Amino acid sequence: MARGWGGIWVIAAVAAVAAAALLTSGQPSAVDWRRLRAVALESDDWGLAGFVPESDAWSGLERETLSPGHFPAVYWNSTLEDSASVARLAAVLAGCRGRDGRPAVLQPNYVMSALEWNGRDWGRRDLPDLPVAYERPGLWRAVAEALAAGVWYPEYHAAWHYDPERRRQAVAAGGPALAAAERGIMLFPGSEAARELGPWRTTAELAAELDAGLAIFRRAFGRPAGAIIAPDYTWDGRCESLWASRGLRVIQAKREQRHPGLPPGAFGRALKVLERQWARVGHPDRVYLERNVRLEPVQAPDPAHVVASALAQTETAWRRGEPAIVETHRVNFAHGEPELAAEGRRALAAYLSGLAAGGGPRPVFVVDAEIAALARRGASAIVAGGRQILRNGSNSRRLVACAPSGNGQPGLVSLWLLDTGFHGVAEAGAGH
Ligand SMILES: [Zn+2]
Repeated sequence: MARGWGGIWVIAAVAAVAAAALLTSGQPSAVDWRRLRAVALESDDWGLAGFVPESDAWSGLERETLSPGHFPAVYWNSTLEDSASVARLAAVLAGCRGRDGRPAVLQPNYVMSALEWNGRDWGRRDLPDLPVAYERPGLWRAVAEALAAGVWYPEYHAAWHYDPERRRQAVAAGGPALAAAERGIMLFPGSEAARELGPWRTTAELAAELDAGLAIFRRAFGRPAGAIIAPDYTWDGRCESLWASRGLRVIQAKREQRHPGLPPGAFGRALKVLERQWARVGHPDRVYLERNVRLEPVQAPDPAHVVASALAQTETAWRRGEPAIVETHRVNFAHGEPELAAEGRRALAAYLSGLAAGGGPRPVFVVDAEIAALARRGASAIVAGGRQILRNGSNSRRLVACAPSGNGQPGLVSLWLLDTGFHGVAEAGAGH
């Protein structure tokens, strides 16, 4: 009997140690982020034809009757960016340099497609094509200029940002949903809950949608997507497996994940922590990035306070040995009320100049693909603005390979041997 109990205690102790190891183990990094002082700016919702084509879209319509669900009030007049908003934001980014001489770079996470109601039925528009109500003359030229300036490094956010079938069904019922669709308004009854990656959607459907979205991304930006953020932070294990099978192994904001299948309350939160740690241990091929700085000035009454908090959070991230990964949605920089977008740009400029004025070495601005490569191998090579951006954040020489065109075509790979601490740029095609 006593031996039996002893055995149970041993098993319990082993389980406790295993649980503690699981809960505390992080993904190892090949670089010291305290020293690198890296900053990434992750910005969701670019390319999204919504929520409204312009703020006038609501006139004559009782927007509450639409019952889309809950979201911050500023989103009622969230709109698709235009050429001026992109160009002005690009100028703010270009005005701030990291200690490697490179400008601040935004990682706009893009939505690839939009449904368009033509009065009788639905059509689809794929970037850079847009619904008529969302025509933005010169937008793609402004994007091309921002890309060439090295301040714009797109990644993948969503195919539609909602379940398209739910929108079709809602509008088929007529009433305010139809009135909204006729005005180009993307919201519909229950739209907040109609998650693109909802558990009711079949894996085959999600796979087809992802393949189409990734092909549109590659055509629009000339390279494959390398990182993903799920719309509304809602996804499950099926989605991660699909992403990984398509080469998308850098996953943003794992800590924010909303699991459709988990119970509410403390038990659900505990399971979520376990699942996150389990994912890290069980999928060493995936890199999970956590947003540890929040810069959402237009949602707050005091943007200056948001900037001060974001600067403090950045210092905290570096002290903890993490890259600073900033969450800053498009709504801060493109809005139906231009004054709000100006406020967002001012806040970003204040954050960027605050980084430079912080006393320590200036930061370096990076994107997810670089964080993942630096963490894995100590060195990184990406193509941005037609140039190869090469980094060695480790304490030894590192060999990196880079495809100059960035389009994954064979025969174009160059190899670089980088000295310790190297941060530099090579013109694409000049490899050896
Ligand atoms: Zn989003």
